[in-house]
Amino acid sequence: MGNILDRPIEFIKGIGPHRGKLMTEELGFRTAEDLIFSYPFRYVDKTNFSNISDIGREGEYVLLKAKLTSIKEIKGQRQKRLVAIAKDKTGYIELVWFKGVSWVVKMLVPDAEFSIYGRLTVFKGKKTISHPEMEMITGNNSAGLPTLDPVYSSTEKLTKIGIDSKARKRIIRTILSELRASEIPENLPSYITSRMGLLPRYEALIKIHAPKSMDEVNESIQRLKFNEIFFFQLSMLYSKHKRKLKFRGPIFDKIGDNFTNFYNTKLPFELTNAQKRVIKEIRADLGSKYQMNRMLQGDVGSGKTMVALLCMLIALDNGYQAVMLAPTQILAQQHFTSLKEYLEGTGIRVGFLTGAVKGKERKIVLDYLKNGELQIIVGTHALMEDSVVFKSLGLAVIDEQHRFGVVQRSKLWTKNPELIPHILVMTATPIPRTLAMTVYGDLDVSVIDELPPGRKPVKTVHMYESKRYQLIEFMREEIKKGRQIYVVYPLIEESETLDLQNLQQGYEQWRDIFKPPEFQISVVHGRMKAAEKDMEMKRFVDKVTQIMVATTVIEVGVNVPNASVMVIENTERFGLSQLHQLRGRVGRGAEQSFCILMSGVKISNVGKERIQTMVGTTDGFKIAEADLRLRGPGDIMGTQQSGIARFELLSLVEDKNLVSTARNIARQILDNDPLLEHPQNEILHKALADYFRKNKDWARIS
Ligand code: ADP
Ligand code: MG
Repeated sequence: MGNILDRPIEFIKGIGPHRGKLMTEELGFRTAEDLIFSYPFRYVDKTNFSNISDIGREGEYVLLKAKLTSIKEIKGQRQKRLVAIAKDKTGYIELVWFKGVSWVVKMLVPDAEFSIYGRLTVFKGKKTISHPEMEMITGNNSAGLPTLDPVYSSTEKLTKIGIDSKARKRIIRTILSELRASEIPENLPSYITSRMGLLPRYEALIKIHAPKSMDEVNESIQRLKFNEIFFFQLSMLYSKHKRKLKFRGPIFDKIGDNFTNFYNTKLPFELTNAQKRVIKEIRADLGSKYQMNRMLQGDVGSGKTMVALLCMLIALDNGYQAVMLAPTQILAQQHFTSLKEYLEGTGIRVGFLTGAVKGKERKIVLDYLKNGELQIIVGTHALMEDSVVFKSLGLAVIDEQHRFGVVQRSKLWTKNPELIPHILVMTATPIPRTLAMTVYGDLDVSVIDELPPGRKPVKTVHMYESKRYQLIEFMREEIKKGRQIYVVYPLIEESETLDLQNLQQGYEQWRDIFKPPEFQISVVHGRMKAAEKDMEMKRFVDKVTQIMVATTVIEVGVNVPNASVMVIENTERFGLSQLHQLRGRVGRGAEQSFCILMSGVKISNVGKERIQTMVGTTDGFKIAEADLRLRGPGDIMGTQQSGIARFELLSLVEDKNLVSTARNIARQILDNDPLLEHPQNEILHKALADYFRKNKDWARIS
């Protein structure tokens, strides 16, 4: 008969072609295997019957064992209803049905004992359950005896054709009754299962669907969760290793004059220990013969640019060019300016290329890149175009990873036909370690976990609209002290027009309050031409204007140390990581900085929690953890495009420890046996091949 797991669902008893088709459409199930690897999402404890006299809390779910003493159909004005009275030793209760009356009435047997489960309503002391789940208890029928009842998800459409949780339970039981242990072979070697105290896979699968106790449920979940995360990690580490072997990178084994001279005579500050450590990590990669794919993660202001620059100098010392990519024109411009400043007097030539660089200027840049005269180039995605040809590109630094997709990253690989350039991705979006390990499994990760000394944490306050006059007073005082202020409006996703209106109105209001000639205001938004934007930005940088009214275009990277106040309008509309990025724009100078979160009185609970988190901490990792908790990993910036697996049981937030344990075990195994060739790992080798086959999409991306 073949393996039951391969059986198409329409051939499973109780399903058939029509329901089968709908199950495929609604839940994506095609075979019996899909069904049994989709688990209950909760269990109803039916192991304890209550006495009717003991219950009485409105809305509580109760399980009773009682006899039916009367069953009556009552004709109402509009519809029939069915009323039954059930009685145990301690009292009685009313059961009511409004729907399916003619079907239910057939099932009810007077004087027979039933297990009755449902939600209690109490009205003037009268206890009622509407539409209870009923099962008759008879001598040789154990169906009605107390159990843990699995509850499966369903959809409205499926419920309509009778595939509700109960039906799914029946179908699963049918499959399980035919399932042989050999059809769910063990896929972990015993040295892992015994070390971790895990149930055999077959047993776990049976018990998660048909448990006798919550302990059994928990043991099964533990085992199946481990499988989810372990094979995910194993597959990623395995692919990474294979790719490493396949792709050679240029070898940067020299530290030469470019680096040494800069380090000894130009470095404007002492590097933090964290900066030193990550540079060492990166250097180790650059010196090996393998191509580097590393992510440099560091909170806003942690000094990633300097790390990138020092790495680029190593590339130059070894005869290669380096490129630095930024997601926006403004950012690219800022990087270009700061790199040029840092490198002044070194003789190193830095170029700049964005879509706005045209004509003769562009041609010169392209020529100089090609003949190697330009050693470092800064720009936007315009640098990815085919017309951009390097003499010998050795290192690509990508700032703010989340704006570039995986595909774009791989495009850089074609820029050096001989050897694939090393890639360093920089991000200020702090990602909790567990998530980083999972989402960026294909990248190695270095973390700058220390800010340069002397930074004062930004003071953050939440202010309701009604206190706006206080805000205005405060702003006036700060400006008098010579400080500058950002005022940020949210992007309204549904409508760019609304967006602009919102900003425009806000701008006009601010202009009425802070009037020229005493005060000057800049305004920047996404719809402006690049040149216009740059001009407004420059006016602010040059302190011609004291206030910068902007949408989130200033979110990433902009550096104006004299700006010490960040006012965020309609704070409730921003996500946590965005708020954190915005706040990172201030607190860059020596002065005490402030972040003021404005909001109306009506905010959702999630909105409130976001604001409280911001007020409570400036630690990017804590904020990222909260963000993950509030939104779930699917929405964290950058994860959509990275092909993160959907886990059925695992929670990246709650199962942090399991994630690292699984990662460590996978790493240990591959360190000793990179290609899984040892006899004791044969089982893993097979299971991994299986995993790759079933997760083709993921394999393709990584
Ligand atoms: P980010 O990591 O957000 O890109 P930057 O590289 O822009 O941060 O650095 C933020 C500021 O901190 C810059 O003005 C930079 O010159 C300064 N900086 C970087 N490293 C150090 C350090 N070790 N000591 C003092 N200041 C530093
Ligand atoms: Mg930066």
